[in-house]
Amino acid sequence: MFAQFKTLPQLFDYFKDEEICLAYWEQIRWGGNVTCPHCNASNPYKTNRGYKCRNIGCQKKFSALVGSIFENSKLPLRTWFAAIYLCTNHKKGISSLQVSRDLGIHQKSAWFMLHRIRETLKESVPEVLGGEGVIVEVDETYVGGKVGNMSNKKRKEITDKLRGINDNKSTVMGYIERSNKIRFKVIEEGENIKDLVRGNIDTNSVIMTDSSTVYTNVGKEFAHHGIVDHSKKEFVKEDVYHTNTIEGAFSLFDRMVIGIYHHVSPKHLQSYFNESAYRYNTRIMNCPMRFEETVAMCSGVRLTYKNLTVKSS
Ligand SMILES: [Zn+2]
Repeated sequence: MFAQFKTLPQLFDYFKDEEICLAYWEQIRWGGNVTCPHCNASNPYKTNRGYKCRNIGCQKKFSALVGSIFENSKLPLRTWFAAIYLCTNHKKGISSLQVSRDLGIHQKSAWFMLHRIRETLKESVPEVLGGEGVIVEVDETYVGGKVGNMSNKKRKEITDKLRGINDNKSTVMGYIERSNKIRFKVIEEGENIKDLVRGNIDTNSVIMTDSSTVYTNVGKEFAHHGIVDHSKKEFVKEDVYHTNTIEGAFSLFDRMVIGIYHHVSPKHLQSYFNESAYRYNTRIMNCPMRFEETVAMCSGVRLTYKNLTVKSS
């Protein structure tokens, strides 16, 4: 059922022209049952440039790209598909400059394309993480401002002192179900760490945090609260007592920004974190599977990995 390719040349071979790309896209979007995006009526007339709604009260013309991230783009779907491949397969992402060189398009076009792709890489209906007996590591980091370019360790030392007075930085929460799923959340005005922890993690979980007092009270609401005291150099206490996984994910994000994107504005910060989380959360998928999942998200119709595996079983 999946498009068969493992490399970029194979992708171009598989999607060899716009017609094939469009047929693939229509299959992903409608699964053979084309519906009007304006009134949901099915079975429209085929026109030479797309469809015309059969419903007398509607009769609107539409293309398969209406409502998707590809709508109103001058770039062919083939180029979009290649960009999706590049963005989701590189471990640290890819810059618009690199995409413009690789695909022979203007950097501005590449920037818009990557931005639209990134915007789709969010969880549509986020479920609570964790559950009975599941360990969830929780930590926060500070991005931007003076500490932006420091190592995680150095930043930790400084931000420990700065907690509460770091107005020029964005605070970002990270939660990770060990060896499973990660989520990042840029804290917005009016939000606080305690409520975010409550809202994102099942209280039957075991949570692991550092010794920051911000977690002390909310930690009591969970099945167990493991505290790692970094100042005592006990990074790994009794094997399971650590927050190394989430700290590793934060530093991978830092390396992505420093090495690939160079600068990320606060306005787009959440999208970049979503991109990073998406790559982590789809790491066990093979390349065509991840590609199909991502393309499906471009229409707002999200195929989850769970759905895909249920279908094939
Ligand atoms: Zn219609």
